[in-house]
Amino acid sequence: RLHNTIQELKGNIRVFCRVRPPLPHEQEGKDEILTHIGFAENDEKAIELKQSVESASGQKTVAKSYPFSFDRVFQPGTQQAVVFDEISQLVQSALDGYNVCIFAYGQTGSGKTFTMEGPDNVLEHPENMGMIPRAVHQIFESAQALKDKGWEYEMEAQFLEIYNESIRDLVGGSTAAGDGKHDIKHHPVTGKTSVTDICTVQVTTPKEVHSVLNKASHNRAVAATNCNERSSRSHSVFTLRLTGMNSLTGETSSGILNLIDLAGSERLSSSGSTGDRLKETQAINKSLSCLGDVIYALANGDKHVPYRNSKLTYLLQGSLGGNSKTLMFVNVSPLATNFQETLCSLRFATKVN
Ligand code: ADP
Ligand code: MG
Repeated sequence: RLHNTIQELKGNIRVFCRVRPPLPHEQEGKDEILTHIGFAENDEKAIELKQSVESASGQKTVAKSYPFSFDRVFQPGTQQAVVFDEISQLVQSALDGYNVCIFAYGQTGSGKTFTMEGPDNVLEHPENMGMIPRAVHQIFESAQALKDKGWEYEMEAQFLEIYNESIRDLVGGSTAAGDGKHDIKHHPVTGKTSVTDICTVQVTTPKEVHSVLNKASHNRAVAATNCNERSSRSHSVFTLRLTGMNSLTGETSSGILNLIDLAGSERLSSSGSTGDRLKETQAINKSLSCLGDVIYALANGDKHVPYRNSKLTYLLQGSLGGNSKTLMFVNVSPLATNFQETLCSLRFATKVN
C-alpha cells in the first residue's frame, strides 16, 4: 500500500530537461559548445555531462562522465510546439479538477522565460510562443468543446511575483516596487489558498488572459529598471483557477493551473555581498532549496512536508502533493563554461525526480 502511494506520487512528479541552443553570438568559440553534453540516439530520456581534461599536447579526453535520466530530454533546436505536446495532457487535467504546477528551473540565461513565455520578439515569431500562452489557448479550446457535454467553466487569473520572500501583485499592484503587504492564507476547511489583496481577474476569452499577461510583463519590466536583474531574482507565478459546472450531470470540478518561472538557480555566493544584496541572495537560495525539499518529501512519501519554510511552497501548498500534478523543466545552457551550473541543475532535478 505504502509502495503504491509512493508510486502514485512519483507518477505525479515529472522532470523534463531542456538544453537551449547556442545563441548566434555564442557560436564563435564553436568547439566549446555542446561537446560536453551527450545525448543518446535512441533514448529520449538520457543526457550525459562530460568533463574533459586537456593533455600537454592539447588532446582532449573525457575524464569523468555524469549520466542523468529524466522523463524526457529535449535537445537544442526542439520546437516549442513539440515541448508543449508533452505537457498538453497535464494542462488538460486542470480542467478535470487537478491542481497542476509547471515550473521552470535553471540558471539565468538557460531558457526558462523562453520556455514559459516565449522570447521578446514572439510577435514576429509566433512559432516561439511559450508554454503559458499555449496552455491558455488549449484551456479555452477545450472548455469550448466541453460545452457540448454540459460543462460551463468560470476562470480566474492572477499573476504575482515573489521577491525577497515578499509578494508583489503584477496585475493589480502599482508599478512601484512595493504595492503593499500581501499575506498567504490557508482556509482550514476547504484547504484553499488565497493571497490577501491580490487582484484576480475573471477571464472569458484568451484575449482577456493576454491582457493580464501583458500587464504583468509590463510591471515586471518597470521594476527591472528600478532594481537590476530583478526578474532573474524573483519567482513569477501565473495562476489560472478553473471552476466547472455540468448542467446535464450536476457534476462540479475545481482545478488550478500554476505556471512558475523560478528565480535563477546560479549559486550566488554571499561572500562580498552586504545589505540588500545579501538578503536577496539568501532569499533565493533558501526558497529554491525549500522547493526541492518539498518535492523530495512528496516523492518520498514523507509524513511531514515542509511547506511553511518558504513563501513559494506555502503559496503552492494546495497545488503540490495530494490531488495534484507537478512538472519541472530543468533548463540548461549549452556552454562548456556553464558546466558546473549545469551539473548542479541536473543534480537538483534528479533529487526531485
Ligand atoms: P532565463 O529566463 O533562464 O534567464 P531566457 O529564456 O531569457 O533565460 O533565455 C536566454 C536567451 O536564450 C534568450 O535570448 C532566449 O531568447 C534564448 N533562448 C532560450 N531558449 C531558447 C530556445 N529553446 N531556442 C532559441 N533561443 C532560446
Ligand atoms: Mg528569465
